[in-house]
Amino acid sequence: TFKAIMVSRDEEKKQSVTIEDITLDDLMDGDVVVRVEATTVNYKDGLAITGKSPVVRRWPMIPGVDFSGTVVSSNHAKWKAGDKVILNGWGVGETHYGAYAQQARVNGDWLIALPKSMKPKDAMAIGTAGYTAMLCILALEKAGITPDSGPILVTGANGGVGSVSVSLLAKLGYRVIASTGRTSEEAFLKNLGASEIIDRAELSEPGRPLGKERWAGAIDSVGSTTLANVLSQTQYGGAVTACGLAQGMDLPTSVAPFILRGISLLGIDSVMAPIALREEAWARLSTDLDAEKLASIATTISFNEIIETATGILDGKVRGRVVVDMTA
Ligand code: NAP
Repeated sequence: TFKAIMVSRDEEKKQSVTIEDITLDDLMDGDVVVRVEATTVNYKDGLAITGKSPVVRRWPMIPGVDFSGTVVSSNHAKWKAGDKVILNGWGVGETHYGAYAQQARVNGDWLIALPKSMKPKDAMAIGTAGYTAMLCILALEKAGITPDSGPILVTGANGGVGSVSVSLLAKLGYRVIASTGRTSEEAFLKNLGASEIIDRAELSEPGRPLGKERWAGAIDSVGSTTLANVLSQTQYGGAVTACGLAQGMDLPTSVAPFILRGISLLGIDSVMAPIALREEAWARLSTDLDAEKLASIATTISFNEIIETATGILDGKVRGRVVVDMTA
């Protein structure tokens, strides 16, 4: 047997979370079994464990949307026992049993190879948050943004997507403006490479349809009024990636930034992203992310601390990235 976190619902749809001993027979169908060596706690995992948003769509469920580890057995042509792999998304931890168990049985089409320079713990220090940060950077690059275009704003800068974005952008030569509610973390953000810190309160209240042009682009994980203000203060021809909803799902904006300044709003989804794009993102992460900076972003916890950390992330108490060492 091995340990798994299980979220269940009773007849009144009241959610409970337990740690259970399960066996391989309890896992769902799939053609590859992976020994989960590292996983992480994302905002989405916090939503799944607390039940605050409908992330889990099948009951009971083992949550955890990403993991890295070693293939134990495979009936899939691409994988054999001993291969080191990463999984992000595809409904794992939402509709298919996920990462918070010492073993996972999944569809081999969902896996990508762990880059040679990384260990499972490194990949999970990056996690879906960091891989999403890289998807945002690839999208900005494809929209023609370069370090010469001007500064890039990162919202939710102390969060997972935000902190990896700050670090990556700085390494790539961009001037980074970091927006955060935790201005006390200025030293942490400056160490990651932020040039300027702004208080997120500046962006969180309704503003004008067009404001002073302040940045060439932005990586936004906050949504809502913040994203509306980010768009209205983006310089002519700029691009903004939308990947999150930490403030809210709404987007109270106007067409002004699009039709008067030619700004592009680029949607980012990590869950169903095609394999080729994932491989491009992970290859870039293995070269563009400073190992020392990554270590400063990451905190390591054990399996038994997952549930508490998942609650904390929703309260904005988690800084940077959390790695769960499943071998501990
Ligand atoms: P996280 O570590 O909790 O980071 C979110 C950050 O947003 C917080 O650290 C906080 O940053 C800021 N924030 C929280 N509440 C806020 C509010 N009310 N107003 C303004 N800012 C607020 O979460 P994450 O894992 O990085 O994920 C960030 C977002 O991206 C989430 O919404 C998540 O669902 C989404 N996401 C989407 C994808 C995708 O495929 N599209 C992939 C990964 C994540 P400060 O403390 O610095 O203010």
